[in-house]
Amino acid sequence: MRGMHLPVGGACTTVGGADLAVDGAYLDVGRACLEVGGASRRRQFLTLSKASLLSECAETQACLAVSKMAATQESTAPVPPDPVCSRHGDPLCWYRLEDEQLVCESCKASSKEGHRFWTVTHAFEERKTVLEITLQTLREKLGGSRKAHGLFVEMAHHTKTQVQQTERLIKDEFEKLQKFLQEEKESRLAALKREEGQKSQKLMQMIKEMTKEISSLSHTIKAIEKHLESEDISFLQNYKSTIEKIHGVKTRGKKPGQIHNDVVEKFCKATKEKEPEVPTGALIDVAKHLGNLKYSVWEKMVGVVNYTLVTLDPNTASRCLSLSDDLTSLSYSPINPPPPDNPERFASAAEILGSEGFSSGRRSWDVEVGANTDWAVGVVRESTNRKKRTKLSSAEGILALRFSNDTYTVDTTQLSLWRKPQKVRVEVDWSTGRMTFSDAAFNSHILSTIELTFKEKVFPYFYSFCEERSLQIAPETRSIAEGAH
Ligand SMILES: [Zn+2]
Repeated sequence: MRGMHLPVGGACTTVGGADLAVDGAYLDVGRACLEVGGASRRRQFLTLSKASLLSECAETQACLAVSKMAATQESTAPVPPDPVCSRHGDPLCWYRLEDEQLVCESCKASSKEGHRFWTVTHAFEERKTVLEITLQTLREKLGGSRKAHGLFVEMAHHTKTQVQQTERLIKDEFEKLQKFLQEEKESRLAALKREEGQKSQKLMQMIKEMTKEISSLSHTIKAIEKHLESEDISFLQNYKSTIEKIHGVKTRGKKPGQIHNDVVEKFCKATKEKEPEVPTGALIDVAKHLGNLKYSVWEKMVGVVNYTLVTLDPNTASRCLSLSDDLTSLSYSPINPPPPDNPERFASAAEILGSEGFSSGRRSWDVEVGANTDWAVGVVRESTNRKKRTKLSSAEGILALRFSNDTYTVDTTQLSLWRKPQKVRVEVDWSTGRMTFSDAAFNSHILSTIELTFKEKVFPYFYSFCEERSLQIAPETRSIAEGAH
């Protein structure tokens, strides 16, 4: 039976190796036991091995095979003689601690002074205990490793889902921007065409009138030239009618001298003064269409695109919170399938953090709480335990204004508010440790102010346990210059 080798399948092929599998460790103990303890020890070992293997490793076929073989060997294997000392031929009944060797009584008697000995029974118990502790540790480690393995698999799967969703949302957002730009382009081209239509129509009208005038003048000039070419008598005979035609006036009742004096004089003066009227602003206002074009489009875009100072981090969201696509709104709604329990995620309540923490300066953000019946907003310390927490308090690393059961509390202090805020402003001055909650929709009326000391990075904190209403981070109304940063 010495050196009993049990085939254990692929994972643990031999017993007693330095890198024994967990279950092999039992077998190693057993072999040592057999070597020193004889038949009684062997039976003890086999009982131990069998029980251990059956109870601890029944899940694997390999280990079942081992246990069956152990049982078979127990019943059929011949019992070898007890091992004896190779020098003295006496039973090995002592265990020498210095070199961890089994020795006989004679060896013990002749050992160097100071050597320590245990009886075989005591040594067996001691060494067995050591290995059992090791085994228990390894089993716990195996359990932890299996759990981590499961989480990693879950996280790998989740990242694929995240990529698909995020890819879709990025495309959607760009489509919206492209649609906006396309509409803006069409609107500006239409404005150009409209101006072209108006101005070209006006110019065509002016050209038409001028053509008419040119024709009329040419006709009159020719008529006068022709008249001037006529003989004295006929010239004088036709003079009156020619004058009337030119000036478009009747000379009846007037003497020819009068016509010459007033009408002709006035006509010549007016004709000289009457310059063709060339209008200003008749050309296309190119500057209006092209000047700061990109800037003005961007300015308009900023007007229609929401900006929030805080964006939610979905990787911190409790599995009972769902978020809007733009990560500005949270609502209580269990997610299926639940996301993996990664370290950043809150496990105990319907909580989530803003995506960016800070450890200096002042920050402020508004949250539309509306008719939500159970909510909290504030900040949380980065190191706060996200898996096991019992209450919302500064002692647990969370400083928030909470509304629940129609009661407002900050940390552990109850507030008596005379009206329900619809939009809460959270202002945090990390450097001075001053934190203020105010009613953003009501003249920024201060609801509560707290003085404390921040020692580490803090993150915006949100909690919502209302199935009907969500919490919405309010968009900022910022100037273009600020928006550029
Ligand atoms: Zn001996």
